[in-house]
Amino acid sequence: MRYLILSDIHANLTALDTALAATKGKWEKAVCLGDVVGYGPDPNEVIDRIREIDAITIRGNHDKAGSGLANAEDFNPVARNAALWTRDKLRPELREYLEKLPTGPATINGFTIVHGASRDEDEYVFAPAQALDSLIEAATPITFFGHTHLQGGFTLGGEDDRVGVLHFKPEGENKFSPLTIEPGTTYLLNPGSIGQPRDGDTRAAFAIADVENKVVEFWRVPYDIEAVQKRMAAAGLPEPLILRLQFGR
Ligand code: ZN
Repeated sequence: MRYLILSDIHANLTALDTALAATKGKWEKAVCLGDVVGYGPDPNEVIDRIREIDAITIRGNHDKAGSGLANAEDFNPVARNAALWTRDKLRPELREYLEKLPTGPATINGFTIVHGASRDEDEYVFAPAQALDSLIEAATPITFFGHTHLQGGFTLGGEDDRVGVLHFKPEGENKFSPLTIEPGTTYLLNPGSIGQPRDGDTRAAFAIADVENKVVEFWRVPYDIEAVQKRMAAAGLPEPLILRLQFGR
C-alpha cells in the first residue's frame, strides 16, 4: 500500500491541489498529520478537499484554535489574528468537523502518526534531544510527525545508538528523495509542510510511504505562491504571513 503523507496544509488550497495533481495515481490512501487550517486563505476549501480524498486525519494546534477548542492565547499575535479569522470564516459544519478530529498518536498499517511529538501533540521536535523520547517509545518502526514545518527527520539504531538526523532536498529532475527503511532502525519522519514550508525551500512538501517496498519518498513541488498571496491580501490576513510564503521561512 502507498500512503500520501500530508501535514501542515494551513488552508493553502493551491499548494494542496498542486501536490495532489503531481501525485495522481501514485498513492492509494491519504493521511494528514494535522494543521489543516490556520494562516492560509482557504480553510473551507481545504477541509472540503481533505474530506473528498477521505484522508485519515488527526488534529493539530491550529485546528484546535480555528475550531474554538483552544482559545489561541498561546499563539503569537499574527497567528492568533489568523486563527480568529479562520474561526469566523469556517462554515459551521466544518468547524464541527475540526472539533471532532481525533488526537494523535494513531497507528495505521504498521506506522504511527502524531502532530507534534508522541507524548504531546503540541510539542515541537526540532533537535535530536527532543526526538529521543518519541524514538525510544515508538510503537512502530516509523512515526510520522509534523508541526515544525521542516522536511526531514531522526533515526535511532543501526550502526550506533546515537540519534541520526535526516535532511532531504530533491533537486533538478527529481521530484522526490527516496529513503530506504532499514530493519532494526526506528524512524521519526517529517514530510514537511504543504502550505507554509519553513526550511528555506518555498516548494510544497509532503511524503509518500510505500509500506511493502519499505521506501519513503520525500517530495517537493513548486506551486503558484502569488495566487495564494493575492487571496490572503484580499482576505486581510496579516502581512508577515503573506510574505513568509515567498521565503519559505
Ligand atoms: Zn503547523
